[in-house]
Amino acid sequence: MAAAAPFRCDCGKIEGVLHAAPRKGLHLECFCDSCRAGALYCGAKLPVGTPVGLYLTQPENITIDKGAEHLRTFAFSPRGIIRWKAGCCGVQMFSSQADPGTPSCPSARTA
Ligand SMILES: [Zn+2]
Ligand SMILES: [Zn+2]
Repeated sequence: MAAAAPFRCDCGKIEGVLHAAPRKGLHLECFCDSCRAGALYCGAKLPVGTPVGLYLTQPENITIDKGAEHLRTFAFSPRGIIRWKAGCCGVQMFSSQADPGTPSCPSARTA
């Protein structure tokens, strides 16, 4: 049975729901430069050595109810992870693979 976890950006212009039971996805901690750079670029306070917390799931488990037009993407290389941020308030919202066939962040570990 899927649980619904509402989420929003910091300013509230973007709102949505994650429809997935916790055990249907994977909680990860990632220490890689790309994940850390993405978080820092979006203004997160991330002391040296601190991992980035991730929740890995399928795109169909996410519904954006409001403010999708404010979403912006960036990546650090042409085939790098696509990172989604809130254009309104700058907070990082999601990341996704440029190529769905590639594995997720290889240096992430299960949290
Ligand atoms: Zn990473
Ligand atoms: Zn916002």
